[in-house]
Amino acid sequence: MNAWRDLADRGRLRTHVPLAPLTTYKLGGPARLLVDVDDAADLESLAAGLEETPLPVLVLGRGSNVLIADGGFDGVVVRLGGGFAWVRWQPGLVSAGGATPLPQLARSAGRAGQGGLEFYVGIPGSVGGAVRMNAGCHGSETAEVLEAADVFDLRDGSRGERSPAALELSYRHSNLVDTDIVVAATYRTDPVDPEIAEETMREVSRWRRDYQPGGTLNAGSVFKNPPGDAAGRIIDQCGLKGYSIGAVSVSEKHANFIVAERKATARDVHDLVLSVQDLVRRRAGVDLVPEIRFVGDFGEISGGSGAEDG
Ligand SMILES: Cc1cc2nc3c(=O)[nH]c(=O)nc-3n(C[C@H](O)[C@H](O)[C@H](O)COP(=O)(O)OP(=O)(O)OC[C@H]3O[C@@H](n4cnc5c(N)ncnc54)[C@H](O)[C@@H]3O)c2cc1C
Repeated sequence: MNAWRDLADRGRLRTHVPLAPLTTYKLGGPARLLVDVDDAADLESLAAGLEETPLPVLVLGRGSNVLIADGGFDGVVVRLGGGFAWVRWQPGLVSAGGATPLPQLARSAGRAGQGGLEFYVGIPGSVGGAVRMNAGCHGSETAEVLEAADVFDLRDGSRGERSPAALELSYRHSNLVDTDIVVAATYRTDPVDPEIAEETMREVSRWRRDYQPGGTLNAGSVFKNPPGDAAGRIIDQCGLKGYSIGAVSVSEKHANFIVAERKATARDVHDLVLSVQDLVRRRAGVDLVPEIRFVGDFGEISGGSGAEDG
């Protein structure tokens, strides 16, 4: 049976689906195809479909580290559904499905007296996105706590465990490619008093409220921190807080956040990121590397406003 038809018949496949609501920026155009996979059979059908019709693939988690182009994504967007959102415990280990929201994982583990994942409470992504990005904050990162990731390879339909070493995790990087889907991950944990875990998570949330522009449309830190420094500090030092293009600006609260208004375009965000990168290169001699992922076609950069090179 045609694999795409099979997915469509099971209600898993939709065409021309707007992606903006599926990301934290709430910007960007539609996906040519969107497949919501909920179990192993869906994954196998999808792999078979891609074998019949090879198309670019984007696995979308909670969309908190991506910017989708206004023209959308001309390929298949894959999302893990509720069948991949679960948390299980065993002594010293916590496993979670790839779609599990990180704050939910942190809270569940803490309540069960399993510590070490509290830093996840402030990261609005999924387990799959955290493995791919080696997400981290407050001095901790995924690589330090990950025991293994369960990865489905869409190219050949194989599935297997990969260790942090096999994933080559480094600062906000893994060797996962677009056809790799993290369907689950297992983490090592240390015993913790649930009240202490709760207090740690409250502290993490408080810090974020104080230092990050909560309640705005953004995708977290736009640039990676250069070794031994902070991208936000450098952008601020270059006088770029408040610098804007269209309805998008460098946050006054945290200069490594680029915040958008509802009426903004993805193109504005993209152009502002490149413009900040260029100005920082010229003013501070630092090459900032974007952490957020640009998806789709953004074309050439257009002009900016609000800051002149100096
Ligand atoms: C307010 C805010 C604060 C943030 N703070 C932090 C922070 O402190 N530290 C930090 O590291 N990040 C932070 N981020 C960025 C983001 O939350 C993380 O990178 C997170 O891990 C992304 O997860 P996601 O599910 O949203 O992934 P998405 O944004 O959906 O995707 C990101 C990448 O992961 C891939 N991906 C997603 N799911 C899977 C999967 N199941 N299998 C394989 N690949 C997958 C995508 O293809 C893409 O390449 C922040 C973002 C926001 C909006």
